[in-house]
Amino acid sequence: MTHMVLEVKESLEERCNQILRNMEASLTARDRVGIQDFVLLDPHTSESAFLDNLRKRFHENLIYTYIGTLLVSVNPYKELDIYSKKQMDTYMGVNFFELDNSISEKLNTWGMSEFNNHFILISGESGAGKTEASKKILQFYAVSCPSTKLLNNVRDRLLLSNPVLEAFGNAKTLKNDNSSRFGKYMDIQFDHQGGAVGGHILSYLLEKSRVVHQNHGERNFHIFYQLVEGGEEDLLRWLGLERNCKNYRYLVQGDCAKVSSINDKSDWKTVRKALSVIEFSESDTEHLFGIIASVLHLGNIKFDVDARGYATLNNNQEMHWLLGIPNQVLQQGLTHRKIEAKTEEVTLYLKYKTNQTLYARDALAKAIYGRTFNWLVNKINESLANKDSSRKTVIGLLDIYGFEVFSVNSFEQFCINYCNEKLQQLFIELTLKSEQEEYEMEGIEWEPVPYFNNKIICDLVEEKFRGIISLLDEECLRPGEATDITFLEKMEEKIGGHPHFVTHKLGDQKTRKTLDRGDFRLLHYAGEVTYCVVGFLDKNNDLLYRNGKEVMRQSKNAIIKHCFPSTEPDSKRRPETVVTQFKSSLVGLTEILMSKEPWYVRCIKPNEAKQPGHFNDVLVRHQVKYLGLMEHLRVRRAGFAYRRKYEIFLQRYKPLCPDTWPNWKGTAAEGVQLLIKHLGYKPDEYKMGRTKIFIRHPRTLFATEDAFQV
Ligand code: ATP
Ligand code: MG
Repeated sequence: MTHMVLEVKESLEERCNQILRNMEASLTARDRVGIQDFVLLDPHTSESAFLDNLRKRFHENLIYTYIGTLLVSVNPYKELDIYSKKQMDTYMGVNFFELDNSISEKLNTWGMSEFNNHFILISGESGAGKTEASKKILQFYAVSCPSTKLLNNVRDRLLLSNPVLEAFGNAKTLKNDNSSRFGKYMDIQFDHQGGAVGGHILSYLLEKSRVVHQNHGERNFHIFYQLVEGGEEDLLRWLGLERNCKNYRYLVQGDCAKVSSINDKSDWKTVRKALSVIEFSESDTEHLFGIIASVLHLGNIKFDVDARGYATLNNNQEMHWLLGIPNQVLQQGLTHRKIEAKTEEVTLYLKYKTNQTLYARDALAKAIYGRTFNWLVNKINESLANKDSSRKTVIGLLDIYGFEVFSVNSFEQFCINYCNEKLQQLFIELTLKSEQEEYEMEGIEWEPVPYFNNKIICDLVEEKFRGIISLLDEECLRPGEATDITFLEKMEEKIGGHPHFVTHKLGDQKTRKTLDRGDFRLLHYAGEVTYCVVGFLDKNNDLLYRNGKEVMRQSKNAIIKHCFPSTEPDSKRRPETVVTQFKSSLVGLTEILMSKEPWYVRCIKPNEAKQPGHFNDVLVRHQVKYLGLMEHLRVRRAGFAYRRKYEIFLQRYKPLCPDTWPNWKGTAAEGVQLLIKHLGYKPDEYKMGRTKIFIRHPRTLFATEDAFQV
């Protein structure tokens, strides 16, 4: 019976291990260069030796290296022939027990009856290869799952959800031509035979501002260009679009509609096909593209001025037709604002000169796109949902926007980098902190491995009442009085002395770099980032005025109708700010992750030029440092692969010593001592803690397990 449980557990662990190891498939067939698991390097590995090993392997196209169960991946910036079905097959069925040292940590719970879920946390800065890694992992399932008509169907949907979400949620930035502008957590559900039977996606804070504004050298979301470049003639005519991105204001602000590494035409075809596999009906796609087109039309709206200085709107046939909203209503919605005044509602005309109309227009475009994106994720989830209620095993994949630093950083970078701080904190918590604390608590002799704990930065951002988020929210509650600059001043006053916070006024001593008035700098775990405070309040409020919503409620477009329900309360209370919602969603994400067994992929960007074959030592060294890889290696190497409470260990293995039990009386710890003496454990193979036994190598335990067979 115990063996049966073990087998189930084993197949799960094996699965995770295979997935990660599969990425290394080509290695088995070739001479290995460098060392494939850092744990096997000289015990006193220096950072330089660590780097040498990575570099050596990178130049041989060996982009994956392990630290125990953690996989380090260096972006090759070129296609490698290691992901073919044939290569993947060579890796299937390799028993992870044969892979010796590399499974240390995950065997902690090995052998017991838990039927755990897992997650793979993929991290690294923007452009390091997280999304590619997550796609390879998913692809591996496609190859490795049992094949039936039903399962193939689920497999195709899982795989094809990627191009759809990337089209709507990724964009070219200066760091990455296919940068994720939303966070994605995907659960893949397996039945007891290992077939993928369903999935579920959670998305996190889409960078909506990109819809209306792009920095130089950047683009809007891919889908806009795909539609304009690749859309069928009939479709474009129907949508009232011309095949020229330059004609659309929302597409040209970055001045780089065309990107050599991107083929919008063929990507359009892929998205079209994917939508049909995910079972979008004709009417769904019509409405969806109607919305994309109407956002483009919205961006081109021009306002005129009447004799009194108020804004008026030109007739825009396509848009009101596409959205199914009477022209009058649309015009009114974009040129007026309704406000509550004491007991009555007042309609104000918007002034042309103040650009209020442009603001209202952009706010509407962002709201339409953002809500449509959420609708899309829900729709994909419906298609991936598994109706069968039997118990599933889940592997979660987390692929989120990476840490990023531009020459000008705004609210969006602040949110993205905060999110990366949180994931780093989780990583530290799960790998460095709790592990070492446990040794200490158990009285295991242990040379502590020092590491940088980024909790201090997380607190600076999110602490109640005095963290940056609280201060920002406070300012957002003072409309009319507060400005971005008062927010900055408040930060200077409240957190000016913090070692990771710098402003113009307080700054130079800390970083010795000049800072403009209006900027603040955070010393993140991954490096310094200077944020320009302009727009923080606005973006955090993300206000869509009431009449904007009211207008959209009249739409005949089914998706818009769904996204702007008439039941949505016109709450007098202010909605939660963007960053506070984001913070709560990250708390939720952390809870999901903490309930599962973690596996890690740490992605490294070899150069800033997106070039194959270039390994920039300084850049890589910096990432090795902040990703905590050396510390991880030290803990892994000196640590223990397996630990178990004495009672549980004894319960499980005492049948191996039948002469002693059941008559023996004593504490569980004494019992374990007797048992391992009987089993012949050598002193350096284990340590006795206060409540648990710690076993250094998995092989010791495997041998004990094998004794059951004899
Ligand atoms: P972001 O945080 O901006 O979303 P990311 O870490 O997800 O960044 P990716 O989009 O995965 O980065 O990778 C950037 C680019 O690097 C890819 O578009 C691809 O060109 C290249 N790349 C990454 N990983 C691989 C790989 N394993 N093989 C080939 N090319 C890769
Ligand atoms: Mg990405």
